[in-house]
Amino acid sequence: MLIVQKYGGTSVANVERIKAVADRVVRTAREGNEVVVVVSAMAGETDKLIGLAHQLSSSPSEREMDLLLSSGERVTSALTAIAIESLGHKAMAFTGRQMGIITDTVHTKARIERITGERARKVIEEGFIVVVAGFQGITEGEDAVTTLGRGGSDLSAVAIASALNADLCEIYTDVDGVYTTDPNIVPEARKLEKISYEEMLELASLGAKVLQTRSVEFAMKYEVPVVVRSSFNDHPGTLVTKEDAEMEKVVVSGVAYDKNQAKLTVMAVPDRPGIAAKLFKGVADANIVVDMIVQNVSSDGKATDISFTIPKTDARKALKLTEEIAKELGARGVALREDIAKISIVGVGMRTHSGVAAKMFDTLAAHRINIAMISTSEIKVSCIIDSKYTELAVRVLHDAFELEKAGSSKPGKARSAGKRKLLY
Ligand code: ADP
Ligand code: ASP
Ligand code: MG
Repeated sequence: MLIVQKYGGTSVANVERIKAVADRVVRTAREGNEVVVVVSAMAGETDKLIGLAHQLSSSPSEREMDLLLSSGERVTSALTAIAIESLGHKAMAFTGRQMGIITDTVHTKARIERITGERARKVIEEGFIVVVAGFQGITEGEDAVTTLGRGGSDLSAVAIASALNADLCEIYTDVDGVYTTDPNIVPEARKLEKISYEEMLELASLGAKVLQTRSVEFAMKYEVPVVVRSSFNDHPGTLVTKEDAEMEKVVVSGVAYDKNQAKLTVMAVPDRPGIAAKLFKGVADANIVVDMIVQNVSSDGKATDISFTIPKTDARKALKLTEEIAKELGARGVALREDIAKISIVGVGMRTHSGVAAKMFDTLAAHRINIAMISTSEIKVSCIIDSKYTELAVRVLHDAFELEKAGSSKPGKARSAGKRKLLY
C-alpha cells in the first residue's frame, strides 16, 4: 500500500516526539508499505513566528509572512528525515516547492491548483521515504512561497495522497480520532468509528479543528479515504468516508464551536435594492469570507440593520473597509463585536427528522444563553452566542442530544420520506 501519514504540531513538538514519529513511519515501511510523510511545524512555532512579525509591524506584508511561516514546516521535515535515516531507512525531505505544490497567488490562504510531484515519485520508487513540509506551496512560475491557511498541513496531506493515488491518508494528532465534540471540553465525548465526508466538512467548517475544512472538501471531492488517529498510541481512529444508510439513523452526530468569529453590524442602511450587493462585493473583493448574514426588516421601510460574521483575523481589515462602504451608502455607522462564538449541531439524520432546531433553542434557553443569530442548512443548525457561554453551551447540547451514547441522539419525529427540508 502507499500510505500518506500526516503528523500535526504536537506530534512533532520536540526531538522525542520526532523520534517516535520516525519509529512509526519506519515500522509502517517495514510492514511492506510505501510511506510519504507530511509534517506540521513544531507546536506553537507558527504562532511564535506570527508574534515576531507583529512586533515589527502591525500589518506585515502577506508575501513575507508566507515565506516566514513556511520555515516552521521546513525545519520539522528535515529533522524528521534525519530521524528516519538514523533508524537505517532512506529518507529525503521536500519543501512544498520541491514537491511541486502549485497554488494560486492568494497569500496566507492559497488554494492548491495542482501537484507535479515528479521528483518525489521517482525517489519513492527508489525506496526513499519522502517527508514533505506541510502547509505550503509555490505560485506558478515559482515567484513566491504561499501558505494554505491555518491547519493547512492537513490539506497538504490529502492533496498529496490524491496526487500520488495513495491507498490511505492517515492524519496523526493528539486525540484518538473524531469525537462527538471536542474531548478537551466534554470528557464524555464519544469517539466515532466513522463519519461521512459531509458531516466532517460541516463540523470542520463550524470550528472542529481536528481537520482543516479545505482538506475535508478535497478528500470528499476526490474520495480520498482519511483516517484520523493519535500519534501517542495505536488505537484505531476514525474513518472519514462516504455516507451510508446507517449514518442517517443518527440525528445529531456532533457539536462544534468556533471562537474565531467576529460580528459586524452596519446600522441604518437604506432599505433599497443593490445595497447588500455593494456591501458584500466590497468585502469579497478583499478576500474576506463572510459566514452568517442577517438583515432585519425595516420597520419604516426606509432603513435597516445588516449583521454578518467573518473570521476574527480579518475583523480589523473588514471593519475599516465596511466603514468606508457604509459612508458611501449613507448608513449610520458600523459596530464590531469580537466576544462572540458560534455553536453548531451537525448530523445527516436532520434531513429526515424534525424538531431538532427547536430542541437546540430550548436547551440554550433553559440555560439562559441568548441567541444573537441563527443559520441552518440541511444537516446543521448554528447559533451565535456570547463567547463566555461557549463551553457551557457545548456541554448542555452534548448532554441534551445524548451524544455520549452510541447510536443515540434522541431523535425528533422521523419524517416521511420525500420531505427533505429542515423543519423547526
Ligand atoms: P494537530 O496539531 O495535530 O493538527 P489540532 O490541534 O489542529 O491538531 O487538532 C486536534 C484538536 O482538535 C484536538 O486536540 C481537539 O481539542 C480539537 N477538536 C475539536 N473538535 C474535535 C472533535 N470533534 N473531535 C476531536 N478533536 C476535536
Ligand atoms: N503550522 C501551521 C499552523 O499552525 C499548519 C498546520 O499545523 O497544519 O496553522
Ligand atoms: Mg491541525
